[in-house]
Amino acid sequence: MNINELYPWNFDAWQRIATMKSRFPHAVLLHGRAGIGKIAFAESLAASLLCEAPRVDGLACGQCLSCGWLAQGNHPDFREITPGDKEDKGSKMEEGDEAVEPGGKAKKSHIVVDQIRALSEMVGLSSHRQGSRIVLLHPAETLNLAAANALLKMLEEPPPDTIFILVSHQSQRLLPTIRSRCHKIAMKMPTIEEARNWLTEQGIKDASYCLAQAGGSPLLALEANDAIAQADAEVFTRELIKADKADVFAASAHWGKAGLLTAVNLLQKWIYDVLSARLYGIVRYYPQQVKVLKDISQQIDVRRLLDFQRDLNEARGQASHPLNAELQLEALMLKYTQLF
Ligand SMILES: [Zn+2]
Repeated sequence: MNINELYPWNFDAWQRIATMKSRFPHAVLLHGRAGIGKIAFAESLAASLLCEAPRVDGLACGQCLSCGWLAQGNHPDFREITPGDKEDKGSKMEEGDEAVEPGGKAKKSHIVVDQIRALSEMVGLSSHRQGSRIVLLHPAETLNLAAANALLKMLEEPPPDTIFILVSHQSQRLLPTIRSRCHKIAMKMPTIEEARNWLTEQGIKDASYCLAQAGGSPLLALEANDAIAQADAEVFTRELIKADKADVFAASAHWGKAGLLTAVNLLQKWIYDVLSARLYGIVRYYPQQVKVLKDISQQIDVRRLLDFQRDLNEARGQASHPLNAELQLEALMLKYTQLF
């Protein structure tokens, strides 16, 4: 749990919240776009409200007993509620909601009424540390109708010393009566510059591109970047290994979605290794594929390969137009298969 990590673009909201500390509302609703750090913010807020000796900046100390319990995930005065195991029977679903995955397995898509009812036990007892009890609930828009009504009852007659922190990416989907019972805190999107700087600090080389792909949400950009790097590189390599028999369209469709720049990056490394294998018998980026690289490097025309390298450099320069990604990649993959 992030007890004292704030993203720089959330400092303003944090300062506003610090001024409310002396008379904190019994329910707050943090709302804003997905991927901008609302949950981390809510966790820091919960930790700060529970902490026995918060720092000057209002963040939790990280040292006291309460902070220790939170870090270990067993604070008796803290509950985190996220979508539960399965939809409870008999409650009506909103139209358009999907409770069942294609495989027929129930999906953890909703916060259900039993989860809210289970709270009454905690809020009925006195708090363990003579302070507040905190309920962190996210994403609030996943409350099903029965759960939302149960929560509404609690908000209407707030249990003593209990603070509800709701987090929502789509607060317009909440019951208006729940919204009106909460002190609303709008969490702002970072500016492009703030997001880009932060991503660069996280070691993302093509921060602007990743950010554009993720619609401006820096945390989604980071996630997408990690996911691509891990899973998809292998898929692409499998096609490249096939040399002239690579499936141009499958590879392009797959990578067009992931992002042209990442694909071009991998292609450049692959081509570098093909050339290096041919000229020096060594490879740099794909050591596991050394045999394949040596094999296919014998089938290529070196002059064409050098041309192709130039094409890749050009494509890299124009990679900021994600709409063309699939087409551009098709053209590049087609050229790749013609090297052999
Ligand atoms: Zn503390």
